Amino acid sequence: MNPLAKRFQQVLIRIRDAERKAARAEGSVKLLAVSKTKSAVDVAELYALGQRNFGENYLQEALQKQAELAAYAIEWHFIGPIQSNKTRLLASRFAWVHSVDRVKIARRLSEQRPDHMPPLNICLQVNISGESSKSGVAVEGLPELVDGVLTLPGLMLRGVMAIPAPGLTEAEQLSGYQQLVQAARASLGQGFDTFSAGMSNDLEAAVASGSTMVRIGSALFGDRS
Ligand SMILES: *Cc1c(COP(=O)(O)O)cnc(C)c1O
Repeated sequence: MNPLAKRFQQVLIRIRDAERKAARAEGSVKLLAVSKTKSAVDVAELYALGQRNFGENYLQEALQKQAELAAYAIEWHFIGPIQSNKTRLLASRFAWVHSVDRVKIARRLSEQRPDHMPPLNICLQVNISGESSKSGVAVEGLPELVDGVLTLPGLMLRGVMAIPAPGLTEAEQLSGYQQLVQAARASLGQGFDTFSAGMSNDLEAAVASGSTMVRIGSALFGDRS
């Protein structure tokens, strides 16, 4: 087995094990392969193994790969910080945007979503570590952001996304995620089917907290140089 195929199997096994340990149904956690800094060839290789959902952080890099991989039935997710002058391309080239943290950005994405496409799936990025430098709305700001986004016709609000601060213990990761899930349930209620959480280093804590989509880069593709 080549190294990518081997790592792919290992990540799928980690997800299954975490689902089982958390008494979650098999298949309740989806894998988003984070291909930032990796080549279109790497993406095509993982696609050939059955992976269909890929996440990118940088718009120009993503557009380049999308052009090279136009013949592939890939569902592209944008997971990076959003500048308002980039929203038109995000709205027209992606199926999902995980990193919406301001009503202004949400309005632009909704207005700029092409009519012939289904509503853009979005998650609201929440800052669970409380660091002022990080993107994401504060947990306390979530209800207001939800209100501002729910009625936008070009968007389908699917849930929330979080990136924990680096260097947390597993107990700290768990408690941050659990606070967020409570806040999301309180403000989104039934209209909440996605909790985008978990990276290579905290997949298990995220699945234990109810993650439905883990965003995995280095454990799949190897370290980023
Ligand atoms: C890079 C990145 C990931 C993947 O991180 P790994 O630790 O490589 O698995 C997930 N989510 C976001 C938002 C990222 O920027």
